[in-house]
Amino acid sequence: MEANLEHTFQPKIVGFFCNWCTYLAADLAGVSRLHYAHNLRIVRVMCSGRVHPEHVLWAFKNGADGVLLGGCHPGDCHYIEGNYKNLRRYLLLKKMLGQFGIDERRLRLEWISASEADKLKQVADEFTDQLRALGPLNVRAALPDFVLPEPPVGNGEALVPEAEAGPTEKPKVGFYWAASCGGCEEAVVDLAEDLLTVAEKVDLAFWPVALDFKREDVEQMADGELLATFINGAVRLSEQEEVVKLLRRKSKLVIAFGACAHLGGIPGLANAQSRTDILDYYYHDGPIVENPQRTVPDPAVTEQQAGFDLPVFYDDVRALDQVIAVDYYIPGCAPTPEIVKNAVLTLLSGALPPRGSVLASDRALCHECPLNETKPDEGLHIEAFSRPHEVERIDPDTCLLQQGLVCLGPVTRGGCGALCVKGHMPCTGCFGPLDGVKDFGASALSFVASLIDANDEEEIHRIIDHAIPDPLGTFYMYALPKALLFKRLGVRDGVQHEEHEEVAYHG
Ligand code: SF4
Ligand code: SF4
Repeated sequence: MEANLEHTFQPKIVGFFCNWCTYLAADLAGVSRLHYAHNLRIVRVMCSGRVHPEHVLWAFKNGADGVLLGGCHPGDCHYIEGNYKNLRRYLLLKKMLGQFGIDERRLRLEWISASEADKLKQVADEFTDQLRALGPLNVRAALPDFVLPEPPVGNGEALVPEAEAGPTEKPKVGFYWAASCGGCEEAVVDLAEDLLTVAEKVDLAFWPVALDFKREDVEQMADGELLATFINGAVRLSEQEEVVKLLRRKSKLVIAFGACAHLGGIPGLANAQSRTDILDYYYHDGPIVENPQRTVPDPAVTEQQAGFDLPVFYDDVRALDQVIAVDYYIPGCAPTPEIVKNAVLTLLSGALPPRGSVLASDRALCHECPLNETKPDEGLHIEAFSRPHEVERIDPDTCLLQQGLVCLGPVTRGGCGALCVKGHMPCTGCFGPLDGVKDFGASALSFVASLIDANDEEEIHRIIDHAIPDPLGTFYMYALPKALLFKRLGVRDGVQHEEHEEVAYHG
């Protein structure tokens, strides 16, 4: 028997159990000496409605092969409807887990009352067998390790002593773009006359998109010679990795500038596909592709007997602070000129906020939205969400959520002035999470699920499937690389893994 146990895969199951029912059922099973699978690790919560999607994602990320949610039967919740809230989140989260490449059966919800020790035993045994058949999940092994060294120089102290900043010794500043659309560079140009105010105070020592600077110019600088470098864009190519690491060495401060550098941004959505899928589509299978020799980009190119290197296209997209240490963040897609100007002037003043700060408001967007007063005081209950193209006429004077549009303003950092809402489009979350929120997508999913006005599983499915066909794209539009799960996982040899590990970052 022991030898068998040793050689059989033993899945790890994290159970989040409500204090008033399922936890008591587990207690009763113990007192009654009922034997059930030892694979279950129980976390007691006051109500199943307390379980946040982030808890579930955290469990998977940290080695769980399955997660079991246990709550009181419908109608029996001690907090009236906590278990229904749990059900809505669970159904939406399950759908999103599938998009992360995690089999939906790895997340299970059961209503188990305090007297149902037998049911607890049956569920624990059955779930263990099911997970055993699915095999290990191995999320932790599949995800990269993002522990980075501290920046080599500068750490939030005043950087420009008055005496040094004379007219001939203006601090040097750099701008660089990595994987981005260029919109953040536009945001700098959009400073208009304010650009002159900024330019008066600094020496633009590196800005390849606007002026003729070469990589060698940076290589020749002393370490820490640049006061600050603003880097926009995520990191996908080897060249981007090399240049941001070089700029890190040469800069006292590095500022992640815009949503792509801050959170991975739109380019980060590519983490929902494997590298091979992307290359296959663009070089082989796309509807307008003709490539009979099935050529794909090769980093080592020989042309007319001369060899040269092309940048390597890595397995995944990373936010800037997953590649180098970052001192400050300027959010937005793109950041507004006002935020850019204030951030630059704050940095130049030497009165620096704590390292790691996001240089924008820490209040939710709704606080600055002109439609906030039209949101009902008693909370919102939505029977049917709509997608913007389905609404014939959006009422410009009523909160968009109140009109059934998925507006992420309540969970998104403010500072943009509600630009999209003023243009009658719901907020999609480009300013990212508020301080203290680890996983923006989990927080957005939790919030949207809490609005669904239905308790019946089928009805909840109907509401979700109609308006949120793509939860991963909806909730992580700008923040997928910063999600706890980081990217879609694949299955190889029956075992869950990152799909393609052959083109890895330098570390
Ligand atoms: S939910 Fe959207 S539309 Fe409503 S107040 Fe908040 S930001 Fe404005
Ligand atoms: S409303 Fe939302 S999506 Fe639009 S700019 Fe502001 S934060 Fe970004």
